[in-house]
Amino acid sequence: MNPQNADLHCHSTVSDGLMAPAALVARAKANNVDLLALTDHDEIGGLDEAILAAAGLGMRFVTGTEISVSWGDDQTVHIVGLNFDHRHPELVAGLGRVRGGRDARAGRMAAELAKVGIDGAYEGALKYAGNPALVSRSHFARYIVERGFARDVKTVFDHWLAKGKPGYVSHPWAEMHEALGWIKVAGGVAVIAHPGRYRLTPAQRRELFVAFKELGGEGIEVVSGSHNEAEVREFAGIAREFGFLASRASDFHGPGESYIDLGRMALLPTDLKPVWSVWD
Ligand code: AMP
Ligand code: MN
Ligand code: MN
Ligand code: MN
Repeated sequence: MNPQNADLHCHSTVSDGLMAPAALVARAKANNVDLLALTDHDEIGGLDEAILAAAGLGMRFVTGTEISVSWGDDQTVHIVGLNFDHRHPELVAGLGRVRGGRDARAGRMAAELAKVGIDGAYEGALKYAGNPALVSRSHFARYIVERGFARDVKTVFDHWLAKGKPGYVSHPWAEMHEALGWIKVAGGVAVIAHPGRYRLTPAQRRELFVAFKELGGEGIEVVSGSHNEAEVREFAGIAREFGFLASRASDFHGPGESYIDLGRMALLPTDLKPVWSVWD
């Protein structure tokens, strides 16, 4: 494949995005995206709708998901899987297990938030979740904004939902080897999502890249909606050093709630090998 404007990371209402899969695909088309992946958190439930919508618009589309992975000393990292068989039973079962912990986590989050004066957060978050199996911190954040405790979602994360804040609860996600195993067995490519977003020391970050590669991980998001220019240069260097395929990703969640719109990111540095170059 040789797309001009690939976007391999975004979210629909099946996880914490604001648009339904078909509407998201239409927006990507309007933004001249010519290769799209929908990568809902721990979910593949929006893929059939997106595949149909993309076919109707003549836009290339590959399957995707963004798997939550527990890493190191109570950290969470995100691994994007791309271009896999989304009916593969091991992948389907693995993602189902990861999602299965979310409802209890949401209950624990609501209990913690109640202690600091934010009541009704479980029901409030659920109201914003398009998929009751996928209640995320984003849905809590929208409810807390609605209640007037903060002016926007980012402020909610800074005050209540980021690690170390009162509404944060630690949670066991997938293990790295499990996430990579599910992606691999289903024929996909695993990509480290937005490496610039993790609060890791430089040494811990290297350990992440080394372990990911040893376990069969192949790609890294070099251009991400949440990377600045210095981060793009840094992770381009990592892609060269480790021989990773490079991905280009908006991480779009919806109008007004994202760093950047679908397909509006910088291009990949031209010497890198794009992840789509290995696809027919
Ligand atoms: P969860 O998977 O429930 O832990 O939710 C993670 C999601 O919360 C991420 O995928 C982002 O969409 C959102 N998120 C995390 N940190 C922030 C932040 N600082 N500002 C806005 N959204 C955030
Ligand atoms: Mn998200
Ligand atoms: Mn992510
Ligand atoms: Mn994402």
